This record gives sequence, structure tokens and C-alpha cells, in this order.
Amino acid sequence: MRMPFAQPDDYAPGFAPPVQAPENALWFVFRRTDILVPVSPEPPVLPRTAHPSSMGLDVAQVQYLGLLGEQHVYAAEVHAEAAPPQGWAFQGLRTLFGQFDDTTLALAGRAVQIVDWDRSHRFCGACATPTVVKSTERSRECPACGITYYPRIAPVVMCLVRRERSILLARSPRFPLSTYSALAGFVEAGETLEQCVAREVMEEVSLQVKNLRYFASQPWPFPHSMMIAFHADYAGGDIQVDGVEIADAQWFSIDALPNLPGKISISRRLIDSAISELGAR
Ligand SMILES: [Zn+2]
Repeated sequence: MRMPFAQPDDYAPGFAPPVQAPENALWFVFRRTDILVPVSPEPPVLPRTAHPSSMGLDVAQVQYLGLLGEQHVYAAEVHAEAAPPQGWAFQGLRTLFGQFDDTTLALAGRAVQIVDWDRSHRFCGACATPTVVKSTERSRECPACGITYYPRIAPVVMCLVRRERSILLARSPRFPLSTYSALAGFVEAGETLEQCVAREVMEEVSLQVKNLRYFASQPWPFPHSMMIAFHADYAGGDIQVDGVEIADAQWFSIDALPNLPGKISISRRLIDSAISELGAR
């Protein structure tokens, strides 16, 4: 089963648009992070046109995204105050979760990150000169000081610690009450993924872990994370929660689990995978 937001198999990414603009390209049109979809049809279909200006939209930027099968795919951004054309509406990606098919969802996740990166890197962060698009790769370059700006991706490690037939689950103060999940945290500069897991587990619950095993990864475009999930074994310590990032953490027997995250999340797949391995023993 493919992870949500993972690139579809029949998609070939590209940054250089075809010389001759295709007549019926597939367009992700953004107003900030909201996507243009029809008001009525379900599931929502994206505009297929030569350019969104044919729908009366005033476009601020265009990004070529590549080929989906034979279909050229583009992203465009309209101004923050732009009104949608008659019969269309701008909707958030989270709302469109479960309405878009897997392929459209994955491309929408990629598109929203690229459009956001382009919007937020118009000027050099070092010298404030307007940046220019590079023709050889997807990046923007400062013509004055030469710094290159790439789309941002922030790695996040996730770790499910097990001890005999129990798994360590924690509740964030941000979670709905009674929902527990695996531990997770952002990778810091200079850290390996292994070091990040050890640090996060120590900071959040004061435990040591060993036997780290890679499970899977998942792009997560809210706003530009890359989740990298691991199984690990308990190596020592007693649970103490930090009370800030973690409201509660406990060892749960796989026979008596609390409410878990939804099936689409990598955390749930990680937990289900541990339950299945432990249950088979
Ligand atoms: Zn500069």
C-alpha cells in the first residue's frame, strides 16, 4: 500500500515546461494554500486548460510539475484576494483529503510545497536582492551573492519503542483527548537520524532505546515535513514525561490499546506493524 502523498508510479517529475504550451494541461491553482476545485462534482476534478487565465484568473506565478502519464501538470498561484470563477471554490488540502484520489492528493502535496517555496523565496535572505529562477534545476538563485534556494524539506523522525509485548505510546497536548501515538520530533542540524531518535526519546520520556530498525517514510506537506519512521527496543530508564511536548506516555500491552491515530497516517502503520509482529510471537 502506498503512503499518502508518496509520488505516483506513473508520474515523471519535471521543472522545465514543454516549449509548446499544451492545450489541456492539468492545473493545481492555489490561492495561498487553498486549491481551486469545482463547487459541486464529487470527487473534485481539477481544471484542464492551456492556462488558468482562460478561466478569468489573474496568475501571479506558474510552476511546471512534470508528466502524469501523458498529461502535463502545472501549478499556479493567484493573488490572495482573487475571487474564484463562477462554479469554482478554493479549498484547503486537508479538506480535500479523502475526496481527491491518491494520485491527485500526492501531486497536490508536492504542488503546495513548491508554490509556497516560490512565494517565500522571491528575495535573497542574505542580501534582499530579488532572486531569479534557475533553468537547470528547480531552484531560485540570488544574482548578487550567488546563494541558491531549494524547496524546503524538514526531516522528522518517528519512533515506536517496544518492550516485551508492550509498545510505548504518548499523548501530545495537541492531540484529541485519549488518542496516543508514537514519539516524533524534528531532526536538528548536524544530527544523524539515529542520534535524533535517541535524543527525542530521552527528551520526551527519559528512556534509552536500542536496535533501531527503519520502517518507512512519508512526505507530509503540512507544511513541508518528511516523516521517517523506526521501530526500536527498550534499553533502559523509567518513563518521565516532559509535560510540554508530551502530556502522558505509557507502556500499552498490544492486547489493551488506547485510541490510535487514523489509518492514513504513518504512525498508525508503524503501530499496526509492531502489533502484527508482536502478536505473531
Ligand atoms: Zn543575495
